[in-house]
Amino acid sequence: EPVESIIGRLSATVPDYPQPGVVFRDLTPVFADGPALRSIVHALIDPFAGQFDAVAGIEARGFLLAAAGAYASGSGVVTVRKKGKLPRRVYAEDYTLEYGTATLELHMDDLRPGMRVLILDDVLATGGTLAAAARLFERAGVQVSGFGVVLELAGLRGRANLAGRRIRSLVRE
Ligand code: 5GP
Repeated sequence: EPVESIIGRLSATVPDYPQPGVVFRDLTPVFADGPALRSIVHALIDPFAGQFDAVAGIEARGFLLAAAGAYASGSGVVTVRKKGKLPRRVYAEDYTLEYGTATLELHMDDLRPGMRVLILDDVLATGGTLAAAARLFERAGVQVSGFGVVLELAGLRGRANLAGRRIRSLVRE
């Protein structure tokens, strides 16, 4: 079964979450299914084979994909976290949310300059989150090989925020 059809069959759509007017796409049933998890992880990482030294995940759902992808490819996993969660020296990057701003952080020394990272998350919406994550790694001297997301909400034009980057999305809607 094609990965796009697996995702369509298992994912859920939740109206008015987390607030009225927002339609939330929930991928937790995809993660909970063993064969589906294996399929999406391979579909995300295989196109980048040989092009990354570590896999990064965005807190929190991206952690699931990144840990699985790192394990499957024999590379390390790196956490891009919300502000205040990492105990040592960090780079911090602000990004815009629908209402207000938020901050992502990365430990300064989790990766060495010159390494290459593949960044994974569950959903690409406006692209603000992934753009901030890329800035963190580039400040650390780490090359961003590309981004992988399970679902791209194409109407929000996230790719425009990620111009010139390589993006693999398994479903666009
Ligand atoms: P962006 O920064 O691209 O606007 O938003 C992407 C971030 O918000 C991702 O970390 C993603 O997990 C979360 N996100 C935005 N919309 C949705 C959604 O409909 N479903 C899920 N699961 N996450 C979302």
